[in-house]
Amino acid sequence: MNDNHQSYQPKTNLGMAIDPIHVGTGATGLGRVDNAIVRDPVTRVPKIPGSSLAGVSRTYAAMAKGRFPNCAGLGQTGRGGSIGHCGKPSCPICVVFGFARGNAGGFAGLAAFSDAHVLLFPVASREGPVWITCPMAIRALKHEIDGVKDNAVYRAGSSQHLNLGWILLPVKSFDALDNIGNLMPILQNHNLPDYVRERFAVVSDKLFSHVVNTNLEVRTSVAIDPQTGAAEEGALFTYEALPRTTVLTWDVTCRNPSHFKVGAETVTAVTTPTDVYEIVATAHPYLEHLGIGGMSTRGMGRLRVLGASSTGAESAGTTAKGAS
Ligand SMILES: [Zn+2]
Repeated sequence: MNDNHQSYQPKTNLGMAIDPIHVGTGATGLGRVDNAIVRDPVTRVPKIPGSSLAGVSRTYAAMAKGRFPNCAGLGQTGRGGSIGHCGKPSCPICVVFGFARGNAGGFAGLAAFSDAHVLLFPVASREGPVWITCPMAIRALKHEIDGVKDNAVYRAGSSQHLNLGWILLPVKSFDALDNIGNLMPILQNHNLPDYVRERFAVVSDKLFSHVVNTNLEVRTSVAIDPQTGAAEEGALFTYEALPRTTVLTWDVTCRNPSHFKVGAETVTAVTTPTDVYEIVATAHPYLEHLGIGGMSTRGMGRLRVLGASSTGAESAGTTAKGAS
């Protein structure tokens, strides 16, 4: 079947942190660091909100396309002379990322971003770096693995024990898990580098959250007085970040432009879900070079998109299943 007849096409992306990545909560001084990163409220595992991914992708896609400077930002009218998003059916930025505009009520956009979840997290061990994952994290790839018990680490190899940071755990074989073999081709299809694929390990969901949270990067920096350009006296602050080589996964759901109208008009900027994703993907080189999280001047935030696939496509036919 031609994917472009479907009402929407889900694209599952994998990305790797080239720098530490800090996407902050905006709240300061509430935890053990001054600037905390966003976490899932239930699992406590750090994540990048889909709204942050969508916002930065919009900005970079507008840069890549060049001709749509007013369509890049948040689109408020009136402030600082900005005239807001154009909202035209011929504008690839406005139709793909949406716009809020006056009485027309705006448009949600043809690309919907999920939160980016940690799929593989690098931890130091006495055998070198190991990337840990867990059943909950793997579920983001629409894959289930079973049989994971607490207080063990599952991996290929023959050692009896392995430390993950400060925790020493008995090693169990991948053979003890169901469906782990089927995971390898999925990771390969998303262009996960071999050095990660060969050194990954599985722990329980609970242990994953614990190990991730105790192995985040914590950096100390100096606040700069904007008046003088000098360091403020005593103004050291700490912030946490996902470490370099963390692998994240997120979905971009690309809706079929032929099923939507902007105002009363047919969308002309894009015609298929594949076109929608191509606009999203124009942001990828910018994500890799300029980053996410607004701390690129401190050497943070660069994210390399490794690959995308349509795993778990559930959009057969022309009827949307659910609104997700
Ligand atoms: Zn526009």
